[in-house]
Amino acid sequence: MARYRGAVCRFCRREGVKLFLKGVRCLSSKCAIDRRTYPPGQHGQARAKISEYGTQLREKQKVKRIFGVLERQFRIAFEQASRKKGITGESLLASLELRLDSVVYRMGIGTSRNEARMLVTHGHIEVNGKKVNIPSYQCKLHDAISLKTKTRSNERIQINLRDVEARGTVPSWLDLDKTNFKAVVRELPKREEINILISENLIVELYSR
Ligand code: SF4
Repeated sequence: MARYRGAVCRFCRREGVKLFLKGVRCLSSKCAIDRRTYPPGQHGQARAKISEYGTQLREKQKVKRIFGVLERQFRIAFEQASRKKGITGESLLASLELRLDSVVYRMGIGTSRNEARMLVTHGHIEVNGKKVNIPSYQCKLHDAISLKTKTRSNERIQINLRDVEARGTVPSWLDLDKTNFKAVVRELPKREEINILISENLIVELYSR
C-alpha cells in the first residue's frame, strides 16, 4: 500500500500541533514546530480565516497524518467504522489504533509509527506466533504481538524499549512484556484511552456533507 515519503515536520507546522511523527526528535530541541511556530510555505505567516469546512478538513488531515494513512485507506476505515455499532468517530480512532503498525509503535518497539511500519513490512513482527508484514492488519482482542526472536538482539530496538516509559506511548489496553518483546491486546481501546487531541466528530461531519 502506498504511503507518503516526503518531509513530515511541515505537517505539524501546518496543523499547529506536535503530531509526533519523528520519534525521539519530537521530544528534543530540534523539533521544527518549536523553532518555527507558523505554517510552512510562502504564505505561511499570512493570517488566514478558516471556514467550517476548513476546520473539519484540518481535523481529518491531522488524523491521517498521525496514523500515516492516505485518503483511500482512510475513507475505507471510515466506512467500516460507520457500519459498526456505536459512535462512528470513536470506532474510527479505535480501528486506526489497532492497526499493526500503530500497536508496534504503542509497544515502544518503534519510536514513531513510521519506524514501526518499517519493522512490520520487513517481517520482524509476529501476531500470535505467525509473521505478519501488513501494516494495516487489524489486531484483535487477545492478539499477542511480538518481535521475532532473531531481531531481539538489535541494539536500537532494545534502547527503544528501555526508554518506552519516558515516551509514554504504552496505553492501558495493551499488556506489555518488555522481557519477551511482546504485548497482548487486553481490551479494545476506548476513546478516553486514546490520548490523541482530536475532535473526531468533525471528521464525521465532513464525510456527512
Ligand atoms: Fe512534528 Fe516531530 Fe517534526 Fe516536531 S520533530 S515538527 S513533533 S514530526
